[in-house]
Amino acid sequence: MLLGGVDVGGTNIEVGLVDAEHQVLARAKRDTPYGGPDAVIATIVELIESLDETPVAVGAGIPGVIHDGRALTVPNLENWVDQVDIGTELEQALGVPVALGNDVNVGLLGEWVAGAAHGFDNVLGVWMGTGIGGGLILDGRPFNGSRGAAGEIGHVVVRPGGGLCTCGNRGCVEAYAGRRSMAAIATAMVEAGRSTSLFEIRDAEGKQRLTSKVWARALEEADALAEQLFEMAIETLGIGVASVINTLDVELVVIGGGLAEKLGQDLADRIERAAAPWMLRPHPDLSWVPAALGDDSGVVGAAALARATVLAG
Ligand SMILES: [Zn+2]
Repeated sequence: MLLGGVDVGGTNIEVGLVDAEHQVLARAKRDTPYGGPDAVIATIVELIESLDETPVAVGAGIPGVIHDGRALTVPNLENWVDQVDIGTELEQALGVPVALGNDVNVGLLGEWVAGAAHGFDNVLGVWMGTGIGGGLILDGRPFNGSRGAAGEIGHVVVRPGGGLCTCGNRGCVEAYAGRRSMAAIATAMVEAGRSTSLFEIRDAEGKQRLTSKVWARALEEADALAEQLFEMAIETLGIGVASVINTLDVELVVIGGGLAEKLGQDLADRIERAAAPWMLRPHPDLSWVPAALGDDSGVVGAAALARATVLAG
């Protein structure tokens, strides 16, 4: 039984054909279109149809609040109007059952069934991307909250009255640690006279935006502004993560997203050090690790979600 997994990110959409052992047998990938839900749905359908075999069901991770197959809010995709019934539209277009989840919950699910979180009962997943996402495994099962909105660690407020967040509030973790916010701060600082190689690296890499690859290269080249903004990102993220650990007493923190893939254990260690001063009594064996499946965690998790839906009938 082959399942389709779809990972809709702010930068690209990836799909994969996944078997019962959580192995990705085939993959396809495209840039995320800017045209809103219809364009995203059309791209998903094209990508799934480009795979060698038709999956028996499809799971999709969407970067927003997902409840009952509807996308309640999708803050990090362009031109996305609220409350789109993307599940029904995808089912009609693909002709197979479709299960939807929040992209980070789905990514953590992938890590839980086949990656870094395998065998753990209480896990916090922190995904660093265009925004900052969070996911939870509690008491040995994925925890999505009463309406699918749990785990939004990016919108934990760490500096009241601070930087403007993509959600409209001020001082959220994401306002400092999300790539979109970091790019806006970098732009503002360049306009104020600071110099940085970030935008030259972006152009040299042929990117439209400051992607995780661009940030990783700037940090590697010891670009002062990149280091300063990255340090601020890690510091604020550490405060937010520590508060969640104090609340939930997890035993494992998994760091995912493009930066985790590029910086690996170093990134997990830096966030651990930033969180340490703010934690009360963490689990003595609390560990901090990067996601193990890399790019595949979303696709594997989405397929696992689809499998659960099919098996549930
Ligand atoms: Zn926010």
